[in-house]
Amino acid sequence: MTKPVRVRFAPSPTGNLHIGNARTAILNWIFARHAKGTSVLRIEDTDLERSTKESEQSILQDLRWLGLDWDEGPEVGGDFGPYRQSERLERYLYLTNKLLTEGKAFHCYCEPDELEKARQEAIKSGKQPVYNGRCRNLTAEQRRELEQQGKKPVIRLRFPDHAFTFQDLVKGEVTFPAGDLGDFVIVRADGIPTYNYAVVIDDVDMQITHVVRGDDHVANTPKQLAVYEALGFEKPVFAHIPMILGEDKTRLSKRHGATSVDQYAQDGFLPQALVNYLSLLSWSSETGDEILSLQRLIEEFDFGRVSRSPAVFDPVKLRWMNGMYIRSIDISRLTDLCVPFLHKADYVLPENRELLEKIVAGVQEKMEVLQDVVAATRVFFADELELENEELSAVLKKESTQKVLWSFVRQCQTFQLMTGDNFRKTVKVIGKETGVIGRDLWMPLRIALTGQEHGPDLPLIAEIFGKEKCVAQIKKWIIE
Ligand code: GLU
Repeated sequence: MTKPVRVRFAPSPTGNLHIGNARTAILNWIFARHAKGTSVLRIEDTDLERSTKESEQSILQDLRWLGLDWDEGPEVGGDFGPYRQSERLERYLYLTNKLLTEGKAFHCYCEPDELEKARQEAIKSGKQPVYNGRCRNLTAEQRRELEQQGKKPVIRLRFPDHAFTFQDLVKGEVTFPAGDLGDFVIVRADGIPTYNYAVVIDDVDMQITHVVRGDDHVANTPKQLAVYEALGFEKPVFAHIPMILGEDKTRLSKRHGATSVDQYAQDGFLPQALVNYLSLLSWSSETGDEILSLQRLIEEFDFGRVSRSPAVFDPVKLRWMNGMYIRSIDISRLTDLCVPFLHKADYVLPENRELLEKIVAGVQEKMEVLQDVVAATRVFFADELELENEELSAVLKKESTQKVLWSFVRQCQTFQLMTGDNFRKTVKVIGKETGVIGRDLWMPLRIALTGQEHGPDLPLIAEIFGKEKCVAQIKKWIIE
C-alpha cells in the first residue's frame, strides 16, 4: 500500500516571501490537496544571525493571504513537531552523537585559512577542491590536545566514496559521481546543525513522502542522500522545479521589479490571480486553459506536466491575468477591495454605498490591478480637472458649445439635487432649447465637466460632483 502523501514547505525566515518560494509553496499545496495528503509548514531558522521572528510572521501572513493554509506547522500544531528547527536542537544532537559513535561523523579542527590553503593546493594539482580529510582519523589524544589549545571543532559527515543516484519526478534520473564532494560540515562550531543535515532529519521525522522544491537545491541533494544513508533512513521522492527567470533569462531578482509577495499585495494583485499565474509558470493544464480556478488547479495538477526548463516571469501577462480576475468578481467585493486604495489616495468617498459601487462598476473594465482604481476614478474625486489637451479648448469656445453651457447653468436652477436622472433630463431639455444634438451636445459637457473626451458615465460623474460643483465647472468655460 502506498503511504499517504505528506509534503512540506520549509522557508528560512530571513526576509520576505519571495515569488520563487511562493511558487514552491503553491505547488506543494496544490499537490497535497490533489493527492488528498497533508501539507506541513516548517520554519528553517538555523541561520541564527539572519533569521527573525518578524520575517517568520510576514511569511506566514503572506501564505495566508495567498490562501495557502497548512495542516501542520507553527500556529496550528500537529503530531510531528516542533516545526521550527531552532526548537529541535536536542533531536539533532541525539543523532549527531549516534553518527559520531558509529564513526560516520568526526570532529574537525581545521581553521578557515588552513582549509582555504588546502583548497588552493588541490586546484593547483588538478584535484577536486574538497575537504582533504585531515581530521578524519584523529586519536582521542590528538583531539584533547587541540581542544586544550582552545579550538572548537565542527562536525563533518564521512562522505562515502560512491556515486549517488536518485529519480526526480521532474528531472528524471540524476546522478552525482563519486569523488565530487568531500566530508561536509553537519554541525557548526557553535553546535547548530547545517541546513543539509537538519533538513533530512526533519523530513524523516515529519514523515515527508515528497520533497518538492526549487532546483537550486539539486546540488544539495547528494549531501542529503549521504545523510539519509548514514542514518539508515528511507529517502523520500524528490521533485525539483525549474527556476523562475526574468525576461533577460537571468534569475528573477529585484532588477526585474517586485519580487516579494507582499509587494504584489500592496500593488493590488489578487491572491487568486497570483496563485493561478505562479502555478502555471512551471506547469500547464492539459486543456491549455490559463484561467484556472483553485479547484481545477487541484484536480488537474500532474508532475508529468511540469516543465524541465526554467520559466520566464512575464509581468505583463500577470497583469492581464489579474485583470481577468478583477472582472470576474462581484461589485460589492471589488468595492471592498478598492476602498483602501481610494483612501490612500485621499479621495473623499460618497457615503452612499450604492453610488460608490456604481463608480467601481464604471471602471472595473479598465483595471488590471486594484491600484488602477485610483487613476481610473480620479475624475470623480480630484479637485482640479485640467483639460487633457489644449485642442479641447477650441471645442469649448465653439458657438454651439457656449449655447449648451449657458443653457446648462439655467436649467440647473430648476431642480435642487443633481442626480443621474436629473442630469439626463437636463441634457434633453438643453437639446430642445438649443437645437444642438448628439455628440455636439454631450461631448462639450463632458469636456467642460471633466477636462477629458472619454471617461466613465457622465450622469454618474455629475451625481457624484453635485449641483454646485457641476455649475462651477461649467461656468469656468463660459465666455462672458
Ligand atoms: N530553507 C530552504 C530554503 O528556503 C528549504 C529548502 C528545501 O526545501 O529543502 O531554500
